[in-house]
Amino acid sequence: MERNKADNRQKLNWILTGAAIAFAALAIAVCLLLKPKTGAADRFVIRYGDGKTVAFSAWETRTVVIRDGEIADRATGEGDENVIHIENGEAWMEQANCPHGECVKQGRLSEETAKKRPLGTWIVCAPHRVYVELAEGGQ
Ligand SMILES: [Zn+2]
Repeated sequence: MERNKADNRQKLNWILTGAAIAFAALAIAVCLLLKPKTGAADRFVIRYGDGKTVAFSAWETRTVVIRDGEIADRATGEGDENVIHIENGEAWMEQANCPHGECVKQGRLSEETAKKRPLGTWIVCAPHRVYVELAEGGQ
């Protein structure tokens, strides 16, 4: 009889331990599943040249110069040049010497403006083949 009680107590302990582990595993699984959904679009991926990409956090302040399909140190206005500015979660084409400057007219891209812009999460400079995409982090 005493022994049965001890056995039962041990069984209960195992059940409780198992339940605690299962609960922890479930909690971690839920966190992992929810993460991509709550993950904000918080970086800008710039595509240029022949399939080159470079990505920056949307929350760093940075000016990126692309000239003739390469990243350049500073703007000179020579060649096929685009100047992209990133600041406070927004990116925009600051300068470009493409024929019509359409990319400059596309204005500011951010998580907020992406909902209303005709090009959504993209800034496109078709003549220079420079593309800026607002993307989720960790992809
Ligand atoms: Zn352009």
